[in-house]
Amino acid sequence: MTETPAFWQTTLEEISHTFLEAQKAEKRILAFSAGNRPLYCLSYGEKDISPCNANYSSALGAHDKACYKPKDAKPTLLLIGAEHGQETEGVAGLMNLISLMETGRDLAGNPNEALPEAASKIRLVILPVANPDGRARVEPKGIVGMTGYDLRYWGQGTWKDGSLCGWPDCKKIHPIKGHEGFLGGYYNDDGINLMHDNFFHPMAKETQAILDLCAAERPDMILHLHGGSNSEGNLLQTAYVPPEISAAIEALAKRCIEAGKPEGLVFAEAPLPPAEETPPSFNLPSAAHHVCGAISAVYESNECLIDEPGPHLSHAQITRMHLILFEQAMKMLCEGR
Ligand SMILES: [Zn+2]
Repeated sequence: MTETPAFWQTTLEEISHTFLEAQKAEKRILAFSAGNRPLYCLSYGEKDISPCNANYSSALGAHDKACYKPKDAKPTLLLIGAEHGQETEGVAGLMNLISLMETGRDLAGNPNEALPEAASKIRLVILPVANPDGRARVEPKGIVGMTGYDLRYWGQGTWKDGSLCGWPDCKKIHPIKGHEGFLGGYYNDDGINLMHDNFFHPMAKETQAILDLCAAERPDMILHLHGGSNSEGNLLQTAYVPPEISAAIEALAKRCIEAGKPEGLVFAEAPLPPAEETPPSFNLPSAAHHVCGAISAVYESNECLIDEPGPHLSHAQITRMHLILFEQAMKMLCEGR
């Protein structure tokens, strides 16, 4: 197993410590999970207080998005880590971002003026761990340098007979609670995968907290930070959103591709997926978009599984790619004004 460097801070204890110590952030506990663990939220920059005369659906019905949020309102970026508890890459990226916002240096001690400068022009809202129950269940600080078996064990867990649930078969029973041998980091303590909650029904407290946050903050962009085995830095298209949102996700991917090139860091393009026989799921990024109109997308990080093909990136490269993604997202929101 690869040793986890000190800048890879991903445990609930480290999150809680950072939350308590942060001096510049506005701090809130959004909710408590099924397992009664806090969902910490840190924000930087003044909250947008432009008028909101109608909810997003009604504003679209009126053919005037400005009824929901005026065009010149302050851009807001919402970053969400660990909707799946074993995917600690985004948590590490967010903890380094918080360090930059607080001290001007990341957790490895590297200065970075560009990112806090870009952040100073927007409202930045950070939810480092959306699924603390799942995070608590996963013992390693990260999967980087481990195997595909490790990823699946700590991720989707096992059935009662000890066999791996795997992806996507883990989704065949939802909630999975009562069917598991080991409940993976995917789920909260009730066995709910937040990505596939019942969004039009009483839902998990964590899911409700995320959608409430979308309603309260009216973010222009939401990045859901996930892991994608040995993928390149991969922004996924979100199902059931208008073409302009798909185009914006593609534009962000292109910006990241260009920004990563000088450092030899490879991001993927974000083309629309081909039509399949089974329609795509209306998942958490879809739901978040429909609450607030945001560009809402999953970013899948490389997870460096040593026994699987694809790029094997270091902890430092994975973290750096998140910081590039965050900076490009901030700049894109400001240029869009
Ligand atoms: Zn995931």
